[in-house]
Amino acid sequence: MNKKIYGLFKANKAAFAGFIIFAALTSCSKSNEEITAETQANALNIESIQKGQLNGQAITYIKKDGKNFFQGDIVLTDQQLAGDNSANKGGATLSRWPGGKIYYTVASNMGSINANKITSAVSEYNTKTNVQWIPRTNQTNYVQFIFGSSSGADGWANIGYQGGKQTISLDQYISVGSVIHEMGHAVGLYHEHARKDRDQYVSIQWNNIQDGQAYNFNIYNSGTDIGVFNINSVMMYWPNSYSKNGQPTIKRADNTNFTYNRNGFTTGDINTINAMYP
Ligand SMILES: [Zn+2]
Repeated sequence: MNKKIYGLFKANKAAFAGFIIFAALTSCSKSNEEITAETQANALNIESIQKGQLNGQAITYIKKDGKNFFQGDIVLTDQQLAGDNSANKGGATLSRWPGGKIYYTVASNMGSINANKITSAVSEYNTKTNVQWIPRTNQTNYVQFIFGSSSGADGWANIGYQGGKQTISLDQYISVGSVIHEMGHAVGLYHEHARKDRDQYVSIQWNNIQDGQAYNFNIYNSGTDIGVFNINSVMMYWPNSYSKNGQPTIKRADNTNFTYNRNGFTTGDINTINAMYP
């Protein structure tokens, strides 16, 4: 099994093995109300599915280890979910990094291999887009790359400019392409498959999605879709994301399979970032 195929979502898949999440999903309208709470043996590793509001849209997300995971690997702050429009919010049209400059630090335990991946990904941004990732000296607002785990191939990131310190987490076996993907979230990009117009281009294979994970394939209406839908985007889910049976969960609209890209930016990705950061 190619590790990259399950990459970012492997952790969620494993975490949900044995979980049973059913009908309550649609019966709850209260903001942030907990609708299921599954406890594992380790009380520190409690996960639950939550309903909340993001930029005026009702969303479903996972509460895990005190963090709010949206669409698998996007971590929302409590402030974002509280609907505080006066604060910084993530999104394609909001919370841009001032001047397109993103200052960053790398945790001391990251290890040289992942540090090199960050260097490669930074070079991709700095040479191909208007966004510049710059090592932090004393800036207040910045991204800290932290080391997630020594066994995984996953990552997660806060979305958009938050103000203060925000985080990108990288596991040991994450690919450079997935580092670029996580940095894309920090820049303010959501997932390509969540665009409002996605059903013109892809067919979600709902019957192949793991029980309780369908909400990860919901359209996100509150963002701004820039450019044309790009199935080769580095921000696209891959074909087998959250598959319960090895069959694709996303196909092209004509029901043919597509090959996902985590090699780096497509022209569409670059154009999108540059539209956000002219
Ligand atoms: Zn992602």
